[in-house]
Amino acid sequence: MLPRSPRSIPELDAVIADCRACPRLVAWREKVAQEKRAAFRDQEYWGRPVPGFGPGDAALLIVGLAPAAHGGNRTGRMFTGDRSGDVLFAALHAVGLANQPTAIHRDDGLALHRTRITAPVHCAPPDNKPTPAERDTCGHWLLAELALLAPTVRAVVVLGAFGWQALLPVLAESGWAIPRPRPRFGHGAHVELAPAAPRRAPLHLFGSYHVSQQNTFTGRLTPAMLENVLRTAARQAGIGCG
Ligand code: SF4
Repeated sequence: MLPRSPRSIPELDAVIADCRACPRLVAWREKVAQEKRAAFRDQEYWGRPVPGFGPGDAALLIVGLAPAAHGGNRTGRMFTGDRSGDVLFAALHAVGLANQPTAIHRDDGLALHRTRITAPVHCAPPDNKPTPAERDTCGHWLLAELALLAPTVRAVVVLGAFGWQALLPVLAESGWAIPRPRPRFGHGAHVELAPAAPRRAPLHLFGSYHVSQQNTFTGRLTPAMLENVLRTAARQAGIGCG
């Protein structure tokens, strides 16, 4: 049985961090945390679900895939301590949505401006590949997060096709109309979703290639490409930034 719905973002973050609903992911995240990577041998890994990061009055929501085994699963904060995060936070800082360009550990002073980062799967999966069942199991946390952010959220940037596919049905369930045929993922994709339930406002949905090393090392996603999407989404969300 699911616990009652959290009534605030801090409450949501706290209950997510205790979730053990996916046996395969629980076993993996804890195994990685115990074995560690050699470079981090002297550190204590988080080894638990990684909650979203950012204020509860966010106007812009960024949706990734899942925490990295030695990034978020180590530090306990989304995209913190890995190469993907280096790219993402540098871009967020460049467009005025983060107070610093780096994310090293949970107490490094990083703060986001009216922006929150979450993922459709909150536990690090083997090979960065959650199963459809794990994605669906974790979907209720995304649903709860969208319900809490609904009063303020006006734009979403989805990093990668997995997040896009995971998010659309949750947006529909949460009270936004998804056009038919369903909007396709692509870098720079942009669709405005009409509200389909009370207390929902129009929502601008944007796609960006994921900030994975595979994309950033090959130049498929450049800092300028990412900054363009973030800047456009922030403007649509009504956040004044550079
Ligand atoms: S992936 Fe989500 S639902 Fe599964 S154990 Fe982690 S937090 Fe819970």
